[in-house]
Amino acid sequence: MVDFAIPEEAQAVRARAADFLDTHVLPAEARVGREPYFDIVAELQAKARADGLWCPFVPVEWGGMGLGPLANALVQIEVGRSFTYLGAWALNCMGPQDATMLTLIEHGTQEQKERYLRPLVAGDLRICFSMTERAAGADATGLRTSAVRDGDHWVLGGEKWFSSNASISQLALVMARTSEQGPRREQFTTFLVELPNPGYRILRNIPTMDEPLRPRFEDEVTSGHAEVRIDNLVVPHANVLGGVGRGFAMGQHRLGYGRLRHGMWSIAKAQAALDLAAGRALSRETFGAPLADRQGVQWMLADCAERLYLSRLMVLHIAAKMERGQDLRQENAIAKNYIAHMLHHVVDTALQLHGSLGYTLDTPLAEWYAEARQQRLVDGPDEVHRWMIGRGVLRAFERDGTTAAAAGGDLL
Ligand SMILES: Cc1cc2nc3c(=O)[nH]c(=O)nc-3n(C[C@H](O)[C@H](O)[C@H](O)COP(=O)(O)OP(=O)(O)OC[C@H]3O[C@@H](n4cnc5c(N)ncnc54)[C@H](O)[C@@H]3O)c2cc1C
Repeated sequence: MVDFAIPEEAQAVRARAADFLDTHVLPAEARVGREPYFDIVAELQAKARADGLWCPFVPVEWGGMGLGPLANALVQIEVGRSFTYLGAWALNCMGPQDATMLTLIEHGTQEQKERYLRPLVAGDLRICFSMTERAAGADATGLRTSAVRDGDHWVLGGEKWFSSNASISQLALVMARTSEQGPRREQFTTFLVELPNPGYRILRNIPTMDEPLRPRFEDEVTSGHAEVRIDNLVVPHANVLGGVGRGFAMGQHRLGYGRLRHGMWSIAKAQAALDLAAGRALSRETFGAPLADRQGVQWMLADCAERLYLSRLMVLHIAAKMERGQDLRQENAIAKNYIAHMLHHVVDTALQLHGSLGYTLDTPLAEWYAEARQQRLVDGPDEVHRWMIGRGVLRAFERDGTTAAAAGGDLL
């Protein structure tokens, strides 16, 4: 089923992205923290646009490169080598910018596309996604922010929690309950909210476990996760995205795309961590021999290589299914859960092999370790994905008399 030959065009675009990262983005990383972050981004964006590396996944008619899932995945693995996210901003494919562009293309009205999609693609707008609340996250149908219609507009009230990038955004996608009746997942609606807005008040950026380890971001606001009070927030009806009651239905097509992006970035980071681990094993001697000579250490590296290899296969399989427009919910959930753990494990192994040095901030490993931990929570925690995977296994057996379809059976 899966053709492992990567088409030449996809290889060529990956090579161009790699070259851009090496020539422009990675050298600029040393400037982060010393110069305003978005000044550096603006400079890189101009270069990326000039090189024709821009919004890789967005159709050409909307100003992107129009790459398919596989070619985009290959570009993302290069972008993922920029651990300060400069690469993602440079090519205008940072989350949730990217997924929102896709949502607008698929579900936006013509007016919304002109007003919001065009400037998003042009790099003139930044956006955040406000769904999670203190009251509800893994089960977002428990969210309490309400929206009440009043003529040609809606009035929203409630609170939001962990709205990433809200402090630097000019637009928010806000999910609110618009009905108490009907099936639960049809009671919610997504609104396009222009920021700043007196009805959408950012109370603070919530301190997180990775922040103290990111001294280079100290004077920056690039990665804040905001706590927000929503009070008498007036939104025109024209800013309902995708229809009333369609808040959850719309999210599905973003899934595969988002997973490939997250997956590729995690693979790029895990690869860098494994390289550090191997370098350390080869250079460090203990008890009269290099660490690399110890079979126990070789097994640690083998375990990482195995997981990294499996992760690559998973994203390739998802990309192949996306290319064919096939249902990939099961593979998506498996990859989300597996790759989050893979990254955590590989970074942890690299840190362990660095000994006390791994625990310092003299290598990037401590920062990566803290940051990797979020992957097991964001976009749904492990347990919810495993619950979905398990249900998929049972459904496949009931339907087919075998669980193969829920365990990658279409590969062979
Ligand atoms: C760094 C970061 C960035 C984020 N960015 C955004 C953003 O931009 N926009 C946004 O809207 N949200 C964002 N989130 C929120 C994220 O999506 C939620 O944290 C996530 O969905 C989990 O929700 P929760 O934190 O409320 O955990 P809860 O719903 O309280 O769940 C807590 C724990 O309970 C367990 N659990 C839950 N349900 C089940 C179950 N059915 N079976 C077994 N165990 C279960 C899991 O272990 C879970 O971790 C972000 C979170 C983080 C950490």
